Amino acid sequence: MAATDALERLATAVPPKVREVCTTLAEAGHQAVIVGGCVRDVLMGREPGDWDVASSAHPDEVMKLFRRTVPQGLQHGTVKVLMGKGKENEVEVTTFRGEGAYSDARRPDSVTFGVPLVEDLARRDLVVNAIAYDPARNELHDPFGGQQDIEARRLRAVGNAVDRFTEDGLRVMRAVRFAAQLEFDLDADTEAGIPPALPSLSKVSRERVSDELRKLLKSREPSRGLKPAVRVGILANILPELVIGSPGLIDAWAARIDRADPGVRLAALVLPLPPAQAVDVLKRLKFSNAELDLVGHVLRIAGASRTAGIAQVRKELSRIDKGKREAAVQLWASEHDDALVGLGRKVLDEKHPLGAGDLAITGKDLMDGLQIQPGPMIGRIIERLVNYVIEDPARNTREALLAEAQRGELEYPAS
Ligand code: ATP
Ligand code: MG
Repeated sequence: MAATDALERLATAVPPKVREVCTTLAEAGHQAVIVGGCVRDVLMGREPGDWDVASSAHPDEVMKLFRRTVPQGLQHGTVKVLMGKGKENEVEVTTFRGEGAYSDARRPDSVTFGVPLVEDLARRDLVVNAIAYDPARNELHDPFGGQQDIEARRLRAVGNAVDRFTEDGLRVMRAVRFAAQLEFDLDADTEAGIPPALPSLSKVSRERVSDELRKLLKSREPSRGLKPAVRVGILANILPELVIGSPGLIDAWAARIDRADPGVRLAALVLPLPPAQAVDVLKRLKFSNAELDLVGHVLRIAGASRTAGIAQVRKELSRIDKGKREAAVQLWASEHDDALVGLGRKVLDEKHPLGAGDLAITGKDLMDGLQIQPGPMIGRIIERLVNYVIEDPARNTREALLAEAQRGELEYPAS
């Protein structure tokens, strides 16, 4: 992109409130820029998630310059400025900072304020995330070549890759997440810097790791991040149980995740594992109970036979919670198994009876009709009736079910 185009794009994209914050800071004699993901996204023509302002002003000065502010982790130098009601009027301003050593692979031992912008940019993870735009002066600050990297669709670490990935173990996850999200490739030297830094990844909290994995899986083609993650050993580090084997199998696994509906991608990721183990490893990664529950259910019937008849498909779907059946069919769909998916869709769309709640008869009807007392007997009869209608949904009428229940009573009395 020509330099003037880049400036014009940024000048128009900056929201008025963000610009106002920068102007106020500039008029008070400070430098104020927008920086990071928002600049990158505007230059790429993507919608920025959040707008981050960085400034030479010390947090105290930021708090003095605006009427309503909320300190947000002052040790990092972040102040939230409230420019009006509502989330959309909150602007975060972070003081330019340099960072000391990272002895725990998670956070710097010390933070220094009062450093120049270029030093603040130098502590950032990737070159595409280290571009700043000064709205008051309409100037870009791109000391490491971020615009060229965007042009080349390339991810490079700022500075020495091994060092940068080692000091903060989360960065390797961010690198593969951005590879998927932005559809960029890891630069060769940067990729080579990941394996030696993996011990740092082990020290990062599992919540932060799974947050990155979740973002990666939401992208259009997760395989763009998953394949490099396998190649450099990230996947073996975070999910050692998942050994996929030959390159051909890895390609097939990744392609299936791409095809999967975003709602079942996590299940597709751990599909090569037995369901119970899949749930265990995701639990260790601190995925939510709802996520574990969904994965557990859909994997339980993920291996349904592609030659199954419709009654068998009903049987499979009846084995899992009602609310998870749609997802299970979506996971089948990721396998391109049209016959099975067609049957699954038919069963769900036509609302075939699959559980006790779907029967055209209640426990009370049974007690009255068969003249029996409440007790475990009723449960057993209902279970048999569910199987009876799964065989053929046309049987789901009050009369047919009562007749079947009576017939059963004669055949297997009190069994
Ligand atoms: P998005 O918000 O789209 O997920 P982002 O690039 O804005 O992506 P944020 O987590 O919002 O990511 O961080 C804002 C900026 O802070 C980044 O662009 C980067 O410059 C810097 N940054 C964030 N996390 C790290 C990190 N772990 N190491 C170094 N710099 C980081
Ligand atoms: Mg951001």
